[in-house]
Amino acid sequence: MGYRLMTTPIAFDSRPSPEPDFISKPFFDSLEQGVLCVQKCSRCEAVQLGELICNQCFAQDLQWVPASGQGKVHSCAIVHLAYHPAFAVPYAVVSVELAEGPRLLANMADCDLQDIQVGMPVVMRPSKLATGVTVPLFVPA
Ligand SMILES: [Zn+2]
Repeated sequence: MGYRLMTTPIAFDSRPSPEPDFISKPFFDSLEQGVLCVQKCSRCEAVQLGELICNQCFAQDLQWVPASGQGKVHSCAIVHLAYHPAFAVPYAVVSVELAEGPRLLANMADCDLQDIQVGMPVVMRPSKLATGVTVPLFVPA
């Protein structure tokens, strides 16, 4: 049961692509090499994602550093409405709390939807889109 738009499915790698900008380009470049990075403040060592300045001390000196790629499901939403033909419904969107602290929204893969639980360990898997941009998916650890 669930509401579905009448759409013709297309390949999963044809889903909407982020457009890396001057802040996020290092993040996406690293994903292309299979590495998930986070931003670390050179002054206070706070770790975050996708910011221009440190959200703890407001320093402007942020470095992209490799993260473990490991985390746990912080929350999960099961989407039943086909907003885009590349997303076969139902599918899961998870908020993953990375081992380093920041949370990241991503799709979950290789897991039955009913098996996704808050707190379950997950690991990042890079996923290359048709545009050439690589984005993170998460799979059970
Ligand atoms: Zn800082």
